[in-house]
Amino acid sequence: TLTTRFAPSPTGYLHVGGARTALYSWLYAKKNGGDFILRIEDTDLERSTQESVDAIMDGMNWLKLDWTKGPYFQTERFDRYKEVIAQLIESGNAYRCYCTPEEVETMREAAREKGEKEKYNGMWRERTDWPEHKPYVIRFKNPLEGEVVIKDLVKGEIVIANQELDDLIIARSDGSPTYNLTVVVDDWDMGVTHVVRGDDHVNNTPRQINILNALGATLPEYAHIPMILGDDGKRLSKRHGAVSVMQYRDEGYLPEALLNYLVRLGWSHGDQEIFSIDEMIELFDLTGCNRAPSAFNTDKLIWVNQHYMKTMDPEYVAEHLAWHMTDQGISTDNGPALAEIVKVQADRVKTLKEMAQISSYFYQDFTEFDATAAKKHLRPVAAEPLTLVKEKLAALENWVAADIHAAINGTAEELGLGMGKVGMPLRVAATGAGNSPSLDITLELLPKEKVLARIDMALA
Ligand code: GLU
Repeated sequence: TLTTRFAPSPTGYLHVGGARTALYSWLYAKKNGGDFILRIEDTDLERSTQESVDAIMDGMNWLKLDWTKGPYFQTERFDRYKEVIAQLIESGNAYRCYCTPEEVETMREAAREKGEKEKYNGMWRERTDWPEHKPYVIRFKNPLEGEVVIKDLVKGEIVIANQELDDLIIARSDGSPTYNLTVVVDDWDMGVTHVVRGDDHVNNTPRQINILNALGATLPEYAHIPMILGDDGKRLSKRHGAVSVMQYRDEGYLPEALLNYLVRLGWSHGDQEIFSIDEMIELFDLTGCNRAPSAFNTDKLIWVNQHYMKTMDPEYVAEHLAWHMTDQGISTDNGPALAEIVKVQADRVKTLKEMAQISSYFYQDFTEFDATAAKKHLRPVAAEPLTLVKEKLAALENWVAADIHAAINGTAEELGLGMGKVGMPLRVAATGAGNSPSLDITLELLPKEKVLARIDMALA
């Protein structure tokens, strides 16, 4: 089976770069009816936390990037890594190195002075005169000759001479395995056929390939995807604002919008911008990924989010809006169904957070009117139109937009005023502020008694 994996180190939240890597791996597996593995690379005991494991899974769950295998935890696989390390020693592909850190540093300095690439000189490669009771590490015996050819699905062919690579430490002096070893063992054991990851790992790949070859493993295909930059051309980081996936939820983006934005950030299909999840699965291909880094553009993400808020099923959008209402402490038990709010507000806001903020008057009474709006529309001139429109509204038998509209219209005509001279005071009275969806629809969504009471409050 075609198998991909997402292999985060649990040392922080799920950031947008990781999410995009996960998305590409997930899409590629889905497209090919394969497996998608979640593997937690938690061997760095000092920096790994359970909190971060939870945060990563929360982010994946929110984005609905479901894994079909795992989660596997590297810390549960130490016995297996030890076994493979022993196997590599046994087969002559790894050896004990007794160099002290000082000796390694001296080697590096010597190389630097000669203007050569800093690397370990292999001094323990063939030695067996092991000192007693001295700490040692295990190094992989990298081939001395030849080259490693990577046919990267994104970057194309990459060739590295083995001379460039030194003998990598695969086990530390306490016996614990290092990153390149654990990744190799896992990708092999877990039957990973396609390694999709950030190109910050591309330098590890030839080393991993050499170890896989020494183990007699079948090599996976590799796809290294270029990094994401901030708007200043530097690598995307906290400096640029939100980078955690869950922060985007908090800011009011729909998961579908973030996924759509992320799939386009580094991949394209003609000039199409909007892709449903099914379309992404159908059309995505690793070979269509950009070779150059992409810059994160919040304005475009907002545009995509607006598209999804406007076009997705309002009932579905409402589920996400409900989260924001709760987040802002607005109880929606009494008031219109949230899907109705989505219908009238979706094209008026950038995010769901904003939608929640400007919709509180549908659910909560207010004690004050927006000062600027009140000054402009309520006082001192509005008593007459408000009194008359209240009378007409109170008399309505059917509380529906068309009749509400007629009441407002009738008031304006009777008093010889423009519609705005009636509508604006009424809007401020009913909603507390000077902006709302179309007034008749807004009022229809509010209970009649509530509207009348609010007009009284404005007249008081
Ligand atoms: N654990 C590595 C990271 O978080 C990823 C390793 C890989 O994808 O091979 O960067």
